Amino acid sequence: MPLEPWNDPRILGTAGLAFGLIVGSFLNVVIHRLPRGESVVTPGSHCPGCDQAIEPWNNIPVLSYLLLRGRCARCKVQISIRYPLIEALTGLVFLGVVLHYGPTPMAILGCVFSASLIAAAAIDFDHRIIPDEISLGGLVLGLLLVPLAKSYGGETSWATAFVFSAMGALIGGGLLWIVGFSHARFCSLMGRRFEHWPEEGEDLPRPNSIDYWTWFPGMGFGDIKLLAMIGTFVGPIGVLETILAASLGGLVFGVLAALAIRSWGSPFGFGPAIAVGAILVLLSPVHLLQP
Ligand SMILES: [Zn+2]
Repeated sequence: MPLEPWNDPRILGTAGLAFGLIVGSFLNVVIHRLPRGESVVTPGSHCPGCDQAIEPWNNIPVLSYLLLRGRCARCKVQISIRYPLIEALTGLVFLGVVLHYGPTPMAILGCVFSASLIAAAAIDFDHRIIPDEISLGGLVLGLLLVPLAKSYGGETSWATAFVFSAMGALIGGGLLWIVGFSHARFCSLMGRRFEHWPEEGEDLPRPNSIDYWTWFPGMGFGDIKLLAMIGTFVGPIGVLETILAASLGGLVFGVLAALAIRSWGSPFGFGPAIAVGAILVLLSPVHLLQP
């Protein structure tokens, strides 16, 4: 049995929440710096207004933002509400993950996995890209560590768990690739053109170029890699549930956003919807496609 105090959900939950708040603070750095190719380790956090290093006591997740009323302690520049929101969200998701898995290695992996998804969603929202460090890095880690964590408790063998993760990755990535690929071929047959597909003055890709197989209108290859990574964690059925949740959620949110800004131009990609869908599937006590 694991250490006694961790079997108390109040202690476990509080630890998960606190850990999530701290990781959320780090995710803000990752979300800002990773797509810009900057180090996520050094230097420490700086104020976007006066460029001064933020002291540790002014960098307490959520609390500092509230105490300083959303302004820099020095220059009083307004700090985006997104920082404390990401921290609070990560704290709550970690709380859910540790209560869902209990004191097991899967709880730790679940936290790493959902933190990666929160970062991927925010970066995709900002830049319409999902860094390979997250999607491919997560795919490799998922294939290696999820089977290890699952076999640790003895509930399943390493080999069974590995097949489960690999199937999840293949089905998740594969299905989305089929959708993107068929849509691209259908659009080119119908003569439909998109703003960035093909790019200005470029022809549509032919089968002998890699773009033909990986470059699709309206959906990035990053989404496919992200869903493959998700598959290693939630498995073949979970990844189908993720696609379902992402499509429904994306549809509802897309219609609401379109009504709000009175335009049907999509304000975000599919990546954030996939990430949110995966976290919901991870935490959900009921599963539509599972007995
Ligand atoms: Zn400042």
